[in-house]
Formats: sequence, C-alpha cells, structure tokens
Amino acid sequence: MTMTRRYHDPLDKKFIAGELCLDFANTVDWRASGAPVELLKTCEDLVTWGRRAGLVDMPTARRFFRESQKRPDDAAAVLKRAVTVREAIYGLALALLQLRRPSAKDLEIFNRELRIAFQHRKVVPGHQGLSWNWDSRNRDLEELLWPILRSAAELLTSERHARIRQCADDRGCGWLFLDTTKNHSRRWCAMEDCGNRAKARRHYQRIRAPKAKITED
Ligand SMILES: [Zn+2]
Repeated sequence: MTMTRRYHDPLDKKFIAGELCLDFANTVDWRASGAPVELLKTCEDLVTWGRRAGLVDMPTARRFFRESQKRPDDAAAVLKRAVTVREAIYGLALALLQLRRPSAKDLEIFNRELRIAFQHRKVVPGHQGLSWNWDSRNRDLEELLWPILRSAAELLTSERHARIRQCADDRGCGWLFLDTTKNHSRRWCAMEDCGNRAKARRHYQRIRAPKAKITED
C-alpha cells in the first residue's frame, strides 16, 4: 500500500466533491486507511484552501495571513475549531451514506458552529431582488467556516444527501463526493487518481491470470 501523498503540494488538489462541505471534509488524505494524513496543519493551510475553494480573493487571503500572524493564539483556536467541525461534517455525511443514525456528538459540534455562523447571515441587494450574504469583516479567519457550514447544513438536510458517495478505492482513500451522474455510477474521487489506479490493477490482474494458469498446469 502506497501511503505517500498524492500531490506534491498536499493542498494543491482538485476540488472533486461537487459540494463545498465535502471538499472540506476531504482535507484529510487516506481517511479510511489506518494512516490518515492531515492536510490542514497550519492556519496558512486553511487560508490557502479557502482561497483555492474560491471563498476569498487574494487580498482577503493576505489579510487573513497577516491577522493570523498578529494573533497566533486566536488563529490556532480557529484552526482547531475548523478541524473539529470538519470531522463532525465527515461523520454526519458518512452516517447518512451508511444509513446510520448520526452521532449526537457530531450533531452537537456541528450545530454549535452553525449557530455561530448563522448569526452572521444577512440579505443584500442582488441581481434579482435580494440574496443571502455574510456580515463579513474580511479579516477574521473564522469567516472561512461560515459558507462551509451553510453548504453542509443545506446538503445534509436536502434530498441530494442520498447522492453522497465515498471513493471505492481499496487502499482507504475515503474521500466523499456527490454522485451527480444520471445512472448513479460514479465510484471514484477522481478518475485520474484512484479510478485509473483501479483500472490499471484490473488490467494487470487480467493479463496475469492466464500466465498463472499455465504455471499451474
Ligand atoms: Zn479516491
């Protein structure tokens, strides 16, 4: 089993889940293996992820960096909350996927953060009438969590939750995604990653099988 990181830069990964909250849940590599790899190790990792997810622009990301450096203890506390609620989101999504009752602890953690996030919701003029937005100062790291929590609350309470899947990789990739294919056939986090590896493995087994038979004879 290869347990090396799949990408040179662990955060330079594709956003493959089709839903913000699931991409966030996937900030752990090899989740379903015995050796998961944390991708959000520092506050900078969290900001970088947020920027790549399109949650903040570059100037705001820079401001987050600066604020984290000015108040490292506060930033570390936000990172800890982010990782804790991420695990709750993963736990809730997995419970729905496996048709299990969600854990009370995951729900408690999630609802606590959701309450905080939703205190900052507001409506603003949009293209047509009004639209949802956030009461944001664009300087608190915590703001990155708000849209993720909204995404999770919406997905987990909608009918779309029935489309949540976990990568079928047998090494323990464990990433979650929404299967939006018409025939519900998506099995891999990414075809060019776990999917290709499984294909190559099946091919190898196929070309190997006849040889094994010859040796037996
Ligand atoms: Zn995978």
